[in-house]
Amino acid sequence: MEKKLFQAESKRLLEMMINSIYSQKEIFLRELISNSSDAIDKIYYRALTDDSLSFDKDSYYIKVTPNKENRTLTVSDTGIGMTEDELEANLGIIAKSGSLAFKTENELKDGHDIIGQFGVGFYSAFMVADEVTVISKSLGSDEAYKWHSTGADGYTIEPTEKETVGTEITLKIKENTEEEQYDEYLEEYGLKSIIKKYSDFIRYPIKMDVIES
Ligand code: ADP
Ligand code: MG
Repeated sequence: MEKKLFQAESKRLLEMMINSIYSQKEIFLRELISNSSDAIDKIYYRALTDDSLSFDKDSYYIKVTPNKENRTLTVSDTGIGMTEDELEANLGIIAKSGSLAFKTENELKDGHDIIGQFGVGFYSAFMVADEVTVISKSLGSDEAYKWHSTGADGYTIEPTEKETVGTEITLKIKENTEEEQYDEYLEEYGLKSIIKKYSDFIRYPIKMDVIES
């Protein structure tokens, strides 16, 4: 399968995330949950203007699934999903990359909490993961696609199977090092406290599925 290259600016931001010395790495979860919430908003607003769609609040939620044995953390949603082109455009290129990269660079330089204040988005997943897989099925499409990346060297997109509309993002959580611990991102308790701290205001239910090993 052909490996595609990130746009130069995206690659720079991604590299900064991968090598991040930023202490509040936990904000990656806020970023993923807010993207899921935005994706559900999009279905909600679509349903307001499209009579063929109904919005049953109970069918819309975000789910966080840690799996200690596989060292994976999955954030899934029943939002609007992404087509193959949208996966390419949204995750391969960062539209506001110039200003984002600027913020991130300055963050690293003078230590102000710029990342904490502004969203850094999807790529923040690479602060805690060395591999990210996105499986998505867009509203109105029969096809699902898988985006996969192990970092700054590029990404692949291929067809896959997914029953329901929405997006599922799986992070392969980094191994602990002497300087840095990542295990809390696989622990129910650690995750719950991060969600409480940063995502309390999200207006869709955030469920947790703990896979026992
Ligand atoms: P932002 O949220 O500021 O646009 P991100 O880097 O967080 O930037 O996300 C980039 C884009 O990827 C989003 O604008 C959206 O189009 C798409 N995206 C990310 N996560 C999801 C998701 N869970 N469902 C649908 N689209 C998503
Ligand atoms: Mg975002």
